[in-house]
Amino acid sequence: MTSGSLRTILCPIVFLLVAPLGQPLRSATISPREYRLRFFHTHSNERLDIVYRRGETYLPESLAKLDRYLRDSWTGEVHHFDPHLFDLLYDLTSSVKDDGGEIHVVCGYRTPASNETLRSRSANTGVAKNSLHMRAEAIDIRLPGVATAKVRDAALQLRRGGVGYYRASNFIHVDVGPVRQW
Ligand SMILES: [Zn+2]
Repeated sequence: MTSGSLRTILCPIVFLLVAPLGQPLRSATISPREYRLRFFHTHSNERLDIVYRRGETYLPESLAKLDRYLRDSWTGEVHHFDPHLFDLLYDLTSSVKDDGGEIHVVCGYRTPASNETLRSRSANTGVAKNSLHMRAEAIDIRLPGVATAKVRDAALQLRRGGVGYYRASNFIHVDVGPVRQW
């Protein structure tokens, strides 16, 4: 048998072996992981369903939409959010097996003036003077269908910043500042 005829016999066999294995590898490299979040805002009643990151790339138009969506509820002022906060929300929802579930937003960005107004209301003793809401590095949320205490525990386990639990109002605060708890 010549080496040429041996190749003719082997080639289809090699092809059959490689093709099924090659398929999933190829599709994995073509489409990077999509990071999607779904929100309902309890002040504006607006919904947002958005892919904010693909693989390692944050999508600037999506981040701009999120900044606007999470604007100060009292003044309408917009501030650029730290995108790591969205990664935190993404990992938080998946850690409580609520991937793609709607996140109810209680509060996003706050101007210093709005923060002061909230602080001055006696009922809102949980509003800090140097709140990270004023740096667009914090968000107050609840996940409908998941007990808020369970979401708090999951956020604490992530150890990615501050976690506050507001039992009476049924929400948690998460931020991407130093790791702390209240
Ligand atoms: Zn907060």
